[in-house]
Amino acid sequence: MTSTLPNDNIKNFDEQITNKLISEIIRDRIKSKGTRFSANDNIAEFINPGELEILEREVASRIKDLLKSLIIDIDNDHNTQETAERVSKMYINEVFKGRYYNQPKVTSFPNDKNLDEIYTVGPITVRSACSHHLVPILGECWIGIKPGNKVIGLSKFARVADWVFSRPHIQEEAVMILADEIEKLCEPKGLGIIVKAQHYCMKWRGVKEPNTSMINSVVRGDFRHDLSLKQEFFELVKQQSSNKNY
Ligand SMILES: [Zn+2]
Repeated sequence: MTSTLPNDNIKNFDEQITNKLISEIIRDRIKSKGTRFSANDNIAEFINPGELEILEREVASRIKDLLKSLIIDIDNDHNTQETAERVSKMYINEVFKGRYYNQPKVTSFPNDKNLDEIYTVGPITVRSACSHHLVPILGECWIGIKPGNKVIGLSKFARVADWVFSRPHIQEEAVMILADEIEKLCEPKGLGIIVKAQHYCMKWRGVKEPNTSMINSVVRGDFRHDLSLKQEFFELVKQQSSNKNY
């Protein structure tokens, strides 16, 4: 059953003193450091233990208001009675978790054997939402590495990609952010990333084109300077492609 949350339920100790919502408190912390908090930025360092649960309740109360403004009878429609709570949990803990949670732990190892042959990992499934409409972007990603001084386990690429993509994005920026994170983790001599994805803001609304996809790539280091290496990367990815439709 739904009930209107009393205001005290979405306030923590600080808020009771300052009379601020938890979102305002977190936003103030970010602003005081002069840090950006766009849709595709991670803000986990500004969230204290226990505050996400309070934020969940605040977001749920806002979604409840949204449903009411859409004139949906959430008090009597059994299908939508718990929707606000479900959507809030889904945003914070699942589809946008890459904003609110720290990067999954990735241990890097020294490249003792001086491996310098390129390898590619993929397809890695990527799930995101477009920043403009908050509807899904679903697709696949391939990562090519020419190792440098450090190496990380293959499964870690999928974990980091999932963390980066689980935010509202535009595809061009998602690929750049993923490249930055991978460079930080394993400092490769060369890095290439390709993402092929379908955008539900084109499939489900707007022009309603069901099969259009967007492909973009980023190449860095030796992949950028050495044309034959870049070609080898694209060739390897072609062999891994699944031709799956999202
Ligand atoms: Zn869109």
